[in-house]
Amino acid sequence: MALTIGVDVGGTKIASGVVDDDGRILERSLRHTPADNPEKVAVTIADAVSELAGRHEVEAVGVGAAGFVDETRSNVRFAPNLAWREEPLQKKVSELVGLPVVVENDANAMAWGEYRFGAGRGETHVVCVTVGTGIGGGAVFGGELYRGRWGMGAEWGHMQVIPDGRPCGCGHRGCWEKYASGSSLLIDARASAEADPSSAVHLLELAGSVDVLRGEHVTEAARKGDRAALDAFDSLAEWLAQGLADLAAILDPGRYIIGGGVSAAADLFMDKVRVAYAERLTGRGHRPLAEIRVAELGPSAGLVGAADLARQR
Ligand SMILES: [Zn+2]
Repeated sequence: MALTIGVDVGGTKIASGVVDDDGRILERSLRHTPADNPEKVAVTIADAVSELAGRHEVEAVGVGAAGFVDETRSNVRFAPNLAWREEPLQKKVSELVGLPVVVENDANAMAWGEYRFGAGRGETHVVCVTVGTGIGGGAVFGGELYRGRWGMGAEWGHMQVIPDGRPCGCGHRGCWEKYASGSSLLIDARASAEADPSSAVHLLELAGSVDVLRGEHVTEAARKGDRAALDAFDSLAEWLAQGLADLAAILDPGRYIIGGGVSAAADLFMDKVRVAYAERLTGRGHRPLAEIRVAELGPSAGLVGAADLARQR
């Protein structure tokens, strides 16, 4: 049994785990991300890896990083939520731990994890859409992870859907992730609550004020029947479906996997996504309908996928 370590480096947490070749996590470790200091990030990753490697015989390390990873799978060119700029992460970590290291974009690692061990099993053409604060993406075509020419592919979240629309963290406006993500739920629910507080009775009770609204408030208020929260989820479903239909026009996948934090509330929008997707599909009625499934591995998908990519390096 070959063991590898997977590491998922996010803006706030570094999750590591020892993973076997069936995708099972044998031991985990969780650390805080020193996001403003690239040296400390590398040392924190190495500490977590060394601790786990001291108790298990591991052969390689896969790091899923929330940033733009180059095509050599070594350097993080840029990260929106960490201080990485042209960061030689692969070199730093491998020197510190003395093991082979592969670096991959975190959403790509998640897509690979779901393809190998989760909701993507048995399908050769899989498109992952990670719906969290923004939208991340990853894809497997013909059994291979798709990276693009420079390692920057599958960033669906930044397709422009509204010219001059809502400002996005990427510096442009009107990106898909500003209309179909956790942050869009907040924007939409807040706007409805301000326009008509009677549509947001539970929402306002839960949050206290629209200024401190959080995702879980919108989810809970929707379950309690608040119109403002339900409308926010309906809008997310419409935009998500439109984006998936656009992706079908380009990529023709056999299956979509919807992951990320917002997918925990999938019961509030997935049926609508499936219906609206079928309606908006180019060539509808004359082509097979891709399945749209919820991710199965939860927050561990990136870690498990990174570990498996290290095994297949
Ligand atoms: Zn953007």
